[in-house]
Amino acid sequence: MPNILDGKKLAQEIELILKQTIESGLKACKRPPGLAVIRVGNDPASGVYVSYKEKACHRVGVRSFSHHLKEDISEKELIEIIKVLNLDQNVDGILLQLPLPPHLDESILLGSIAPDKDADGLHPLNLGKLIKGEKGPRSCTPAGVMALLERNKIKIEGKKAVVVGRSILVGKPMALMLESANATVTVAHSKTEDLPSLTRQADLLVVAAGKPHLIGGIHVKENSVVIDVGIHRLPCDKNDLSGSKKFKLCGDVKTLEIEDKVASFSPVPGGVGPMTVTMLLANTVDRWQEHCGLPLTISHLLP
Ligand code: NAP
Repeated sequence: MPNILDGKKLAQEIELILKQTIESGLKACKRPPGLAVIRVGNDPASGVYVSYKEKACHRVGVRSFSHHLKEDISEKELIEIIKVLNLDQNVDGILLQLPLPPHLDESILLGSIAPDKDADGLHPLNLGKLIKGEKGPRSCTPAGVMALLERNKIKIEGKKAVVVGRSILVGKPMALMLESANATVTVAHSKTEDLPSLTRQADLLVVAAGKPHLIGGIHVKENSVVIDVGIHRLPCDKNDLSGSKKFKLCGDVKTLEIEDKVASFSPVPGGVGPMTVTMLLANTVDRWQEHCGLPLTISHLLP
């Protein structure tokens, strides 16, 4: 039986560390860490993610400042709000929930967040720090994957890793983090020819394509490690004509086809998803320690 990489359990363990870190720093700092969460419009999936993040803040003792803004807010107005948060001394981290409505330029807006408060690690300066191997806030999902690998003692150095997907949010920073950990990394994308023969070479396969069930048995190598970043809400049964509105969560990987072949895999749900939220908290608490002049005791959690 393969080893299931339990992100939910690890997220709980890290949350406990974060909670204790906050409790022990509160006296010196005189205020809890603060995370501003900006949501634009009414995308239902974003609403669900934002509520997970706010609940997680509450669990560990991070104060969350919620900004739910109207769909047609102008870029100028949004930048003004971000500028105010950049100067707010109670705010250590700022998260701009993606995706944004099409009239807003994601890159300009992410670039207007103070790099020092970049809870999602997506500011160009912090992506540059990642490329250079310098410490800084890290993109939460790939950071969560690295924590999951480390906790499960999965050797990365010297291994062949394939990352399917090259987004700024997941694929690219994932590839950089794996390379920093001394894997030999190949990045696949939608124009990659003969994906199965490439992914079959991977000792470690990270799939972040956003395509439900893209990866099956023919794509994986025996005894490899497969990380499924994808997350999709699909109707439970296509043949169910009862009008039932039940949904299930699935990833980019056909778990049933790979589970007897691989050494370890991350499930959906309960794998990478909970780790993403926890790494957001880790970035925020790390920033809080820095802003309060406390020793940086949790930066080892950020790859
Ligand atoms: P994205 O921006 O849509 O990027 C998808 C990437 O996959 C692109 O680089 C695309 O290639 C590549 N791709 C698409 N179809 C492919 C195919 N058939 N073969 C090979 N590559 C293909 O998505 P994202 O933001 O990176 O997110 C990816 C998935 O992760 C989504 O399901 C998302 O919901 C999920 N996600 C989960 C978490 C979590 O916490 N679990 C966090 C973030 C994202 P091109 O560049 O050529 O278009």
